[in-house]
Amino acid sequence: MITVVGSINMDLVVGTERFPKQGETVLGNLHATVPGGKGANQAVAAARLGGQVGMIGAVGTDPFGDELTANLKNKGVDVSGVKRVEGPSGIANILLSEGDNRIIVVPGANHELTHEDIDNCEQAIASSDLIVMQLEIPIPSVLRTIEIAHKNHVPVILNPAPSDGFSEEFLKYEPILTPNESEAAMMFGDKWEQALEAHPNRLIVTLGRDGARYYDGERHVRVPGIRVNAVDTTGAGDTFNGALAVAMAEKMPMADAIRFANAAASLSVEKFGAQGGMPGREETMRRLQ
Ligand code: ATP
Repeated sequence: MITVVGSINMDLVVGTERFPKQGETVLGNLHATVPGGKGANQAVAAARLGGQVGMIGAVGTDPFGDELTANLKNKGVDVSGVKRVEGPSGIANILLSEGDNRIIVVPGANHELTHEDIDNCEQAIASSDLIVMQLEIPIPSVLRTIEIAHKNHVPVILNPAPSDGFSEEFLKYEPILTPNESEAAMMFGDKWEQALEAHPNRLIVTLGRDGARYYDGERHVRVPGIRVNAVDTTGAGDTFNGALAVAMAEKMPMADAIRFANAAASLSVEKFGAQGGMPGREETMRRLQ
């Protein structure tokens, strides 16, 4: 079982011709309400690729809470670790315009996933094959999960996003870290390439269309991305992490696991939406041929 401990959000997407100025109202041309949150996205990516996936997280008592839980269930994710808390679910307000985006995340219920909740899930964490986390839930809860996993020799993939939640304390539990280039620079400074050598096989930096790189203990390895016509890169990183989790739970060697993750993520950027664009197993295997 792959257990994802992380955020569950509703993405409220609004498109306009141009961003409104301060105090200004403009007419929009698009509105969509779609399930998101890095935790939920990565759980769905892994389940779509054939992983057996359970989610530990929190949603609110609002209608979004029902929709978000039902969505995870429909996509094959075990939601017995998702708690309901009084109040609103997490949302991401995503404004799309001028070929760019502006995003406000309001964590809502995600911030109610406490250290004690994690303790209550100790059995589920300890008996998992792999834990997957991001940094959109309270950091003490992330730390507690890593501690329990480490004590029980369960490997952890920590996608350090958003990177301002990253703490050096995580490093002592030797998680597999999967930052993109700017997150790597936030965590390790401009010389992040040197950090690769300090964390052999544990620091995988994703490079957008160029794929990903890591240090295998003897040499630097870049696993090239797959060239495609990208229409929407939202969720590329989440698909990469979900796929990496499936591959690692199946004990694929690191380079093969990253190749699999690149293939899945390249398929996801060819379609619109985060969860909407996530590929299945067969499609991904075909891309690898
Ligand atoms: P996101 O856009 O979801 O925030 P990210 O910034 O976390 O992504 P990236 O390094 O941009 O992470 O992308 C993650 C992975 O997705 C890459 O390692 C690659 O496999 C794939 N990918 C991203 N963009 C493209 C692209 N344009 N073409 C092909 N593959 C891509």
